[in-house]
Amino acid sequence: MEGRPVTVLLGCIADDTTGATDLANNLVRGGLRTVQAIGVPDAPLADEADAVVVALKSRTIPAADAVAQSLAALRWLQAQGVEQVYFKVCSTFDSTPAGNIGPVADALLDALGSDFTIACPAFPVNQRTVFKGHLFVGDVLLSDSGMRHHPLTPMTDANLVRVLQAQTRRRVGLVAYDVVARGPEAISARFGALRSEGVQMAIVDAISDDDLMRLGPALAAMPLIVAGSGVAIGLPQNWRSRGQLDDAAVADRLPPAQGLRAVVSGSCSVATNGQVARFVETGRPTYAIDPLAIAAGRDVAADALRSLGPHLAGGPVLAYATAEPARVAAVQQRLGVEHAGALVEQTMSRIATGLVQAGVRQLVVAGGETSGAVVQALGVRQMTIGPQIDPGVPWTAARSPAAGGDVVHLALKSGNFGRPGFFTDAFALLR
Ligand code: ADP
Repeated sequence: MEGRPVTVLLGCIADDTTGATDLANNLVRGGLRTVQAIGVPDAPLADEADAVVVALKSRTIPAADAVAQSLAALRWLQAQGVEQVYFKVCSTFDSTPAGNIGPVADALLDALGSDFTIACPAFPVNQRTVFKGHLFVGDVLLSDSGMRHHPLTPMTDANLVRVLQAQTRRRVGLVAYDVVARGPEAISARFGALRSEGVQMAIVDAISDDDLMRLGPALAAMPLIVAGSGVAIGLPQNWRSRGQLDDAAVADRLPPAQGLRAVVSGSCSVATNGQVARFVETGRPTYAIDPLAIAAGRDVAADALRSLGPHLAGGPVLAYATAEPARVAAVQQRLGVEHAGALVEQTMSRIATGLVQAGVRQLVVAGGETSGAVVQALGVRQMTIGPQIDPGVPWTAARSPAAGGDVVHLALKSGNFGRPGFFTDAFALLR
């Protein structure tokens, strides 16, 4: 490559698979050629890339395991020579009082020998904004949004300073909107002032993409950034101004799509419920998974594949566990939250694998945890990031042993992302 350093500019650690893809999508749109690895790779990076995102499945595992996995990812990224590290968390700050955002950020700061980072989940194009340290989902506080009913990480407090402080031994502060609005110098000065007060993590307000563009330059020299995917839109300007990024390079090219089409959905988020309802309305073939039937020992995956198989040629078809909060709560009460989640994820993975074995090569997966389970089951190790379908969700391409080593086009959709017609509209983009 002429005049371009071979260094990877940004190394990212994402706490779930759809989050990784969402971040990679923003980096590609910013002109960075981006590779997403599923889990910590056991070999050096093969393809040339400006950014690498290591996707973990560490959002809801015990904090000590999340720390260990994140540190392993950090060591691998450092071996690839990354200049800056980005710990990608959920745009709704999904976590529990035990973590895992705080403990992982603490461990990464320690490992990097750094004493200051930000934490900013703002993603304005997807209706996630932070004002006075409070996270809004659309027009309501996080704690009034559908997130209060999340199956695994119910979010009942919108005050992110308080939420993060409960998870870290470091002091948490705030860079409030009046500072952000004044631009990069004011933001940097505020970082300095907080630091001198002993604050080592700062929630940053942002209500628009302009705010994120103002934040970007203030992060240029920060070894670690803790954020949703939105903050990434402000970073490419830093490398561009240093001549480290080639404007002419096309960052979102994928191989041509082929094969059959399907959707598997294990997300119970509000947006996904709407997307499932819309798909069902189209009269296309669907199969609803009953978690209690799985628990009773029935081979629900085999049932689903038998039911959907004959309709694949006229696809897309949909298999879903998606349900309204009351039904999810009833299942969880019977089976336990984790057990219910694991049973459904296993079943969705087996369905996805069966569909790919039956010739599906264009697959939409809804749900962060669900996507993590599905890509693991498909044996996907690395994904190339392509064009955006909806904010936060790109098409990707990956080789899968379940496809006999063929390329499968995958769209991994985090619960609350995507327009109502996503489950059919997404495929139009691959034509
Ligand atoms: P999202 O991106 O919407 O948060 P996830 O896949 O991350 O979706 O999380 C949803 C969790 O809920 C998964 O563990 C999934 O297996 C579980 N789940 C899905 N459907 C049901 C259901 N009907 N009852 C109980 N749990 C469910």
